[in-house]
Amino acid sequence: MKYALVTGGSRGLGKAVCLKLAQLGIPVIINCQSNKAAAEEVAARVLAEGVSADILQFDVGKKEDVEAALSGWESTHPEDYIAYLVNNAGIRRDNLMFMMPDQDWKDVLDVSLNGFFYVTRHLLPKMMMRRHGGRIVNMASLSGLKGLAGQVNYSAAKAALIGATKALAQEVAARDVTVNAVAPGFIETDMTKDLPQEELAKLVPMKRFGKPEEVAALVAFLLSPEASYITGQVISVNGGMYS
Ligand code: NAP
Repeated sequence: MKYALVTGGSRGLGKAVCLKLAQLGIPVIINCQSNKAAAEEVAARVLAEGVSADILQFDVGKKEDVEAALSGWESTHPEDYIAYLVNNAGIRRDNLMFMMPDQDWKDVLDVSLNGFFYVTRHLLPKMMMRRHGGRIVNMASLSGLKGLAGQVNYSAAKAALIGATKALAQEVAARDVTVNAVAPGFIETDMTKDLPQEELAKLVPMKRFGKPEEVAALVAFLLSPEASYITGQVISVNGGMYS
């Protein structure tokens, strides 16, 4: 069976992606870092659709943990492989740069950028070997496109992820693997619940935050056979907010 791995699949955008893929009948592996109960809730909803769901708890920013978790899953699923990868796990540690602690710089890059590297590197050989329409979608951000004050770490991580998306897309295109990035604007999730939504929504041409399902729909399309000739792209889901 061809599985989808969604990092950070326990909450927010990742959860919406898992549920959307379940509706499409794609078996999912739900990754979480610490919130196993939330991952179990997502798994129950996937199973209710009659679709397989596995939970893999690991920190995407820790190379050894990534290797152990993915190798472990592969050894218990000799007939299956991960054909669809959504690198979605991410964190915010906002601060003005002159006050930013080393740890906040490092943690944000570890999850968004190094996490992408460790997980994707592990899965690429099998995806390329199969020549079976492998799909990678990286969750970037408007912040990585325009830069956002107070988010130098996050903007840097997401901009780097966009560069990596474009470069990797060219490396693996001949093996029928596509690599794209999605750049959401403000979406209603735990990550944005501390923000002044009413004030910020005024900056969005659509005058509202997006819903996780509105991002998941695009991710599902990019994973689908219909998107087979789209690669190396960054597609925004931002209610028209570019600056
Ligand atoms: P969220 O609601 O805070 O959920 C974050 C998810 O990432 C959770 O499932 C969390 O797992 C997981 N996670 C965090 N650190 C991890 C790690 N080290 N290893 C594995 N999993 C980890 O965030 P969200 O809003 O859904 O954001 C998802 C992605 O979209 C992120 O990359 C974010 O940067 C990006 N994004 C979000 C927005 C927005 O407005 N919400 C806008 C642009 C881009 P646990 O449940 O175990 O903690």
